[in-house]
Amino acid sequence: MNKNKISKILDKELKPLVEFDNHFVVFNIYNKEAKLDAYIAIHKKNKDLPSFGATRFWTYSSKKDGLRDALRLGKLMSYKSVLAGLPYGGAKAVIVKPKGDFSRVKLLKAYAEGLNELGGIFVTGTDVGLTVADLEGMKKYTKHLVGYVSNPEKATGLGVAKSLDAALLYKYNNKKYSKYSFSIQGVGKVGTELLKILIKGGAKNIFISDIDEKRLKQIKKEYPIVKVVDVDKIHKQEVDIFCPCALSGIINKKSIKDLKCKIIVGSANNQLADDTVGKELHQKGILYCPDYVVNGGGLISVTDEYVYGKSNNRRLNKKINEIAKVLNKIFTESKKSNLPPYLVSQDIGLSIINKNSLK
Ligand code: NAD
Repeated sequence: MNKNKISKILDKELKPLVEFDNHFVVFNIYNKEAKLDAYIAIHKKNKDLPSFGATRFWTYSSKKDGLRDALRLGKLMSYKSVLAGLPYGGAKAVIVKPKGDFSRVKLLKAYAEGLNELGGIFVTGTDVGLTVADLEGMKKYTKHLVGYVSNPEKATGLGVAKSLDAALLYKYNNKKYSKYSFSIQGVGKVGTELLKILIKGGAKNIFISDIDEKRLKQIKKEYPIVKVVDVDKIHKQEVDIFCPCALSGIINKKSIKDLKCKIIVGSANNQLADDTVGKELHQKGILYCPDYVVNGGGLISVTDEYVYGKSNNRRLNKKINEIAKVLNKIFTESKKSNLPPYLVSQDIGLSIINKNSLK
């Protein structure tokens, strides 16, 4: 197979993109024969430590779209990392899914070899479109991988539940799940982890939706207590807590008009379509728990795996419990300043990035 071509994308090409936030470095790994075209956006870097971020393997309308997604998500990872109390800078990789036939094995082998050529400054795992089985295959060619020893989805689900508890205590001073109603958008890996915790905690009134009919049937069979609603009705439910656990942008100019919940807390990345909806939620008195704080459990678990090589529940739970403390700080500051929580978390994140001198 021909060799990978690795190139740094120049600032002058990045500057016109709104997603560019003076990222530390952005690479392209290209391999014509393997049909590999990957963008690795390292947003921040802390001295000799690697920057962390999972790899997304997805279809994009253009290469530029893939690059923009990597830039946007790389930045989010830096904020997620510092707010989770981790010393690492954030990063993200996007592999643009090739059109037509391709060999997944060859493509991922070329990608894994490309990671080696970055000299260990980037460590990655699975995001949308990549599986643990893919990681197992790539492990033969590179050591810069995490997420096959720990269980990031479980850790993320636990972090969402801890965030929910913090929000309930803040708003109602009572975190008994049996008192509240819930709606979960997306019962995939994390949505299901959250559902299990809710049911175990006594929740009785739970609405769910998913675009995957097979998955819905399976969940309904396993947990008959849930009420299944149409995909376009889940955010309209009259519930206390709405839990977005599917894809980005569920809170937007249109959907915000239909919201009847009091708290939003879920695992999906980039839940707010833009800043204006963050402000509007605050004006409406809906408590929004910033997504990259709430869903930090996965990153906490894979970086723990990176340091220790194996899982230890007690150590992990201790770190995940810290998510609730950070949220409390955000809620308190938001109340004091009357600024929306999403803005407060951005300010806190940026001040830690600067304090830790992340480059
Ligand atoms: P997943 O793919 O296992 O689950 C997502 C589910 O959402 C799927 O069942 C899918 O069918 C469903 N879905 C997609 N569009 C939908 C829609 N419009 N309405 C209803 N359901 C829809 O993914 P996951 O690992 O559970 O992650 C869920 C979200 O949390 C993603 O946004 C992911 O980026 C984020 N997240 C996950 C982790 C993790 O540890 N897995 C960590 C941080 C953030």
